[in-house]
Amino acid sequence: MYLILRCSGCATFTYVDSFRQHRLCPVCGEIIKVKGAPVYLEVKDYRQAEAIIAELGRYLQKNKRHDLTPEEKERMREEYAGWMRKNLFV
Ligand SMILES: [Zn+2]
Repeated sequence: MYLILRCSGCATFTYVDSFRQHRLCPVCGEIIKVKGAPVYLEVKDYRQAEAIIAELGRYLQKNKRHDLTPEEKERMREEYAGWMRKNLFV
């Protein structure tokens, strides 16, 4: 599993293997502590993580926002669970 989270330094979305404890931010070099970082979604593989991160970036940019609301995060998790059930991701 991979966790989609955000850098506490520069707010870039990134992902990390859920067994890891740290992730070096590819943008600003900050060492992100996985425990304590805001986790947006847990996904099955890194390709899904990359696709979702790209989608999140587009969504926030389009809406001129900096973060998702708790309701949006919840909805994203439900949508992802639905995709997995329907096997839309392979
Ligand atoms: Zn960063």
